[in-house]
Amino acid sequence: MNQKPIIVIGAGMCGVSTAIWLQRFGHRVILIDKGQPGLGASFGNAGLLAQWAVDPVTSPKLWWKVPKYLAQQNSPFFMKWGYLPSMLPWLVKYMSHANDNATRRIVQDLIPIVSDAVEQHKSLVRSTTLEKWIVDSKFSFVYPSEAAFKQDAYSWKMKSIAGLIPKVILGAAVQEEEPILGPAMGCLAILEGQGHVTNPGQYIAELVAYFVSEGGQFIQANVFDIQKRNGVVSHIDTDLGRFDCRKAVITAGIWSKDLMKMIDLNVPMEAERGYHVIFENPSELPRNPMLMTEGKFGVNPMEMGLRCAGTVELGDHRSGPSVDPIEYIRKQSQRAFPNLQYSGTQEWMGSRPSTPDSLPLIGELGQSGIFTGFGHQHVGLTAGPKTGRLIAQLINNNSPNIDMSPYAPGRYAVGTSKPGS
Ligand SMILES: Cc1cc2nc3c(=O)[nH]c(=O)nc-3n(C[C@H](O)[C@H](O)[C@H](O)COP(=O)(O)OP(=O)(O)OC[C@H]3O[C@@H](n4cnc5c(N)ncnc54)[C@H](O)[C@@H]3O)c2cc1C
Repeated sequence: MNQKPIIVIGAGMCGVSTAIWLQRFGHRVILIDKGQPGLGASFGNAGLLAQWAVDPVTSPKLWWKVPKYLAQQNSPFFMKWGYLPSMLPWLVKYMSHANDNATRRIVQDLIPIVSDAVEQHKSLVRSTTLEKWIVDSKFSFVYPSEAAFKQDAYSWKMKSIAGLIPKVILGAAVQEEEPILGPAMGCLAILEGQGHVTNPGQYIAELVAYFVSEGGQFIQANVFDIQKRNGVVSHIDTDLGRFDCRKAVITAGIWSKDLMKMIDLNVPMEAERGYHVIFENPSELPRNPMLMTEGKFGVNPMEMGLRCAGTVELGDHRSGPSVDPIEYIRKQSQRAFPNLQYSGTQEWMGSRPSTPDSLPLIGELGQSGIFTGFGHQHVGLTAGPKTGRLIAQLINNNSPNIDMSPYAPGRYAVGTSKPGS
């Protein structure tokens, strides 16, 4: 193979999936990351293969939820106020999608990239030792009461568009289904046929090792420039030197914004920072993963303990973690699991890469040979393998069997076909 390679920048869930699919299609691929693989947002997420996450955060209800959360002492929404002026243009665009029409359109556009996630992950790892990381399960939405479930009717109406109809159980049946839950929780909405990952960081590290064992090259280097010749990508500059390429793929999560600036494009994308607390050596575990709907965090029985991961903090992805969201997750976990004993905890913060319309940018930037695969907000673990497969199909000139126009990078990247919206 004497052809120049394809370079994939960023070895998170989206990047490693892209690298593997390109390799399977017969391409020579170099995967570059500034750190060890899988240490970005893909490391510490809730590990949920969220096939049900078809309704965006920007539901029409967000208009009254945000002021309510800000007024509340104890809420799952946090704000780094000093960063507000910098993120205001993004926030205005983001909130412009918080209406019924936009929500229905986003639901239709999220369905193709999330709804077959368990199968997509299984295809990525089929016949390898990595199959062990993908676990089939049920998934429960946990509410304090039936009334709280009913207040969530809009979200369930949106999910029903994807055929997601839960089985609802109340009262003592809740603790029979999930003995870890205390009496503060009185209603479960359960979906069958879901899945989860039991150690996302290790899963990605092993995916990269698999890619290398199949002939791929992983290079740990910081990309600081992407160069074009006659409008087409020619090479990537890194702190380890220059790498020639015939195509490049930007899959660097929240940092993709900085990489886009290297090719003079501005993308409206901001960090929805989120946190996890791992309860080590827990005295009990849930039977299946769950979402604490009030606390806005996922609960996943993982290899290293019980991981509770979520909350949203709007702020700069470059600034360090805050204390309050961690404390919030701890308190809410105590309320939900009053009998839980554990030997210690681990904490983490990561940045969800979020676009104003909650849809990723997947496609080619004009005819530059530069492709994008970022902006997956709350569902990047879920949708990474599908994203990688779609990018590999586009590079191979195999038309994907879904309409790619909703994800076109040109809708946001200044300087390409469509103006930003
Ligand atoms: C608390 C929390 C819970 C979540 N729970 C879930 C969940 O349950 N399910 C789900 O689907 N999603 C979840 N998410 C979202 C999910 O984690 C992200 O959408 C996803 O990890 C994004 O993956 P990525 O590959 O795009 O980016 P990342 O995983 O962030 O990877 C980007 C990579 O690019 C590299 N990079 C950056 N800049 C450069 C450079 N200049 N040169 C070289 N390399 C570079 C970084 O080092 C990094 O490894 C959660 C997120 C958070 C924060």
